This record gives sequence, structure tokens and C-alpha cells, in this order.
Amino acid sequence: MSELTELYKEVRVCQKCILSQGRANAVPGEGPEDAGILFIGEGPGFHEDRQGRPFVGAAGNYLTELLEKIDLKREEVYITNVIKCRPPGNRDPQPEEIEACRPYLDRQIALIRPRLIITLGRYSMQRYFPGASISRIHGQPKRVGNVIYYPMFHPAAALHQPRWRSLVEEDICKIPHLLAKLDELEEQEPERPSTQAQQLSLF
Ligand code: URA
Ligand code: SF4
Repeated sequence: MSELTELYKEVRVCQKCILSQGRANAVPGEGPEDAGILFIGEGPGFHEDRQGRPFVGAAGNYLTELLEKIDLKREEVYITNVIKCRPPGNRDPQPEEIEACRPYLDRQIALIRPRLIITLGRYSMQRYFPGASISRIHGQPKRVGNVIYYPMFHPAAALHQPRWRSLVEEDICKIPHLLAKLDELEEQEPERPSTQAQQLSLF
């Protein structure tokens, strides 16, 4: 069994926070174990909790549509969340829940080793851009070591807000360029120290 499959088993029976009490299914995440691109959302909603899979409701359909715009299939990317169990009534995750669940996401990232991490919404953005405002920094990539972090609005928010919808679509369309830039940077400097953070300008 792969280490990631082992992790899924642990998550499905985890009781490290109160969200374990109301869930039907924990939602560890899914995608190729060696995915180059990893998306991090907030947490499971109603449909995700029912099916035990991430982004399968309206926001998920929209995410699939966004990926198609840049010729990516959902199956080609890894998709997970900051918290793995659905909060009651889809309320915001609490800091202690995010903290309790953090080691799972840390381990997923360490095992998958993606080169591009895309945060969807505020909660995953907080991991890499603490204190930032999403309206200010969405669509602005940051490179740390050999990984690029790219903050985007949450697709669920964009679905309901026409203004954010056009921004989310603009931001997704920059991804192919970002990947090309990453190829270029990796060629120039294959072993970049992870202590160096750098704002990347795309155009
Ligand atoms: N919204 C999220 O943040 N994650 C999901 O898995 C589904 C909806
Ligand atoms: Fe465990 Fe995370 Fe679910 Fe809390 S949200 S019970 S920490 S898997």
C-alpha cells in the first residue's frame, strides 16, 4: 500500500477534532500520487461529505470547467482541502480544526511534491500568505525554493459573484504561462534553496 493510501485510511477514521462527529465521510483528497499541480480548497461540503470525494458539487463542476479552459483534466491534478471533514451547515473552519488537520495536508504535500500549489479561497491562502487579502494578491505567484504558490478565489465564491468570476477565469488562464516559466526557472537553477521567497512577475 502506498504511503498516501495509508494516509487516506488514517483520515477516514480520524477523531482529532470535533468535525469527526458530524461527518458521513472524511474527504482526504484525490489525484495522481505524483501530480505536478495541487489544488487546496477549504473543506468538504454536503456532496463531498456524502461521497467522500473533494469538489464534487457545484463548486467542483465549476473547477472542472476552469481546468478545461487550460486543457487540463481533473484527473491530472491533485485536489484536496485544508480540513478533511465537513463543518456543520458548511460553517467556516475554526483555527483549532485547521491546526488539528494540518499534519495530513503537510504529509500529502511532502509525498506528492507538486511544483505548483494553487490555493482556492482564504483558508488555504493563509498557509502560504499569512495576513494577506485575497482581493489584493489573487493571481500573483510566489516562488519559494522550487515550488510556486498561486492564490486564487474560491470557485464557490466566484460562482455567485460575477465580478470574482471573471477574475477567477483570468487567473486560471495564467497557469500555462506559469508552468512554462517554472520550466525555465528550473533549467536555470535546479536546486534552489527553500529559504528564498520571491515574488514572480509573469508578464
Ligand atoms: N469547497 C471546498 O472548499 N472543497 C470542496 O471539496 C468542495 C467545495
Ligand atoms: Fe481529523 Fe481533520 Fe477530520 Fe478533524 S477535520 S476529524 S483533524 S480529518
